[in-house]
Amino acid sequence: MGRCSLESAEMLNLENSVDGTLDLLSRPDVLTCTPWKAPIMWEGMFDPDRYDQVHKKQGSSVALTVFAIGRYLDAYLETFLNSSEHHFMLGVPVTYYVFTDMPEKVPNIKLGAERSLEIIKVERHSRWQDISMMRMKTISDFIDSDIRHRCTHVFCFDVDQVFTGRFGTEALGDLVGLLHAYYFRAPRKFFTYDGNPKSKAYMETGDFYYHAAIFGGSWKSVKALTETCYKNILEDKKNNVEALWHDESHLNKYFWVHKPSRILSPEYCWDPDIRYGRDIRISRLIWAPKHYDTLRTN
Ligand code: UDP
Ligand code: MN
Repeated sequence: MGRCSLESAEMLNLENSVDGTLDLLSRPDVLTCTPWKAPIMWEGMFDPDRYDQVHKKQGSSVALTVFAIGRYLDAYLETFLNSSEHHFMLGVPVTYYVFTDMPEKVPNIKLGAERSLEIIKVERHSRWQDISMMRMKTISDFIDSDIRHRCTHVFCFDVDQVFTGRFGTEALGDLVGLLHAYYFRAPRKFFTYDGNPKSKAYMETGDFYYHAAIFGGSWKSVKALTETCYKNILEDKKNNVEALWHDESHLNKYFWVHKPSRILSPEYCWDPDIRYGRDIRISRLIWAPKHYDTLRTN
């Protein structure tokens, strides 16, 4: 991965004034901006306190959506939420939206000031692929009915992960994607985009391979993203096709057509099993062990 072609942060597409303070050349070992001039956030490039100050002043507030359905609730939710209380967006107000088929089993978490938690009951789809994909519709509907009245930004998370370091306001932007830990160094030909022309997620080439475990942005942009992905998933169902990596394939297509304004490095979602992590100076969030055989019931 080469270095950023820009000489200084002022040449970036600035989302707010503090982006002008990003030090793009401080990490010559990794790519710190995209060809369309969006920053890729790496440890060492930014001053966390400055980002907190600016977002506090702007009145930013963040909705975190997470789904815990079936056995995923007992296996992951408590650890996810407790770790989030220590590391996620500590500088600004946060509302958790926990979507589950078993509201009564959601653990009681001690929350910090200006942080609250809502539990929303949802139906359980029988196939795990549908549980994963249909999150797009639920999030889209819920942004409309609730989130847009209460939060400026939305971040959508898989539950099978644990916060281990700062995941702060530097991650806030209009449309935010995450580089997949397994592909950020890989040549494009290895990216596992959907290769079936019959699917709405089909793409021949792309910029990066994004990981669907985390995406976010302003409520308006996340609304547009989730609505479009859901419509494309429905269209595929009508045509009897399913994209290779389900919602992740549709997300990759969306980010190909609508370029993210900010990208998170794999520090923000790292698999500790990866041994070649010399670029990873800090793990802000790590993958929890996966136990598909016992957790996925179908
Ligand atoms: N999920 C869930 N119950 C299930 C399957 C999935 O709650 O039975 C939710 C959960 O938030 C999970 C996300 O959907 O993190 C995506 O599924 P998974 O993490 O298994 O996908 P992977 O990360 O392995 O691609
Ligand atoms: Mn996951």
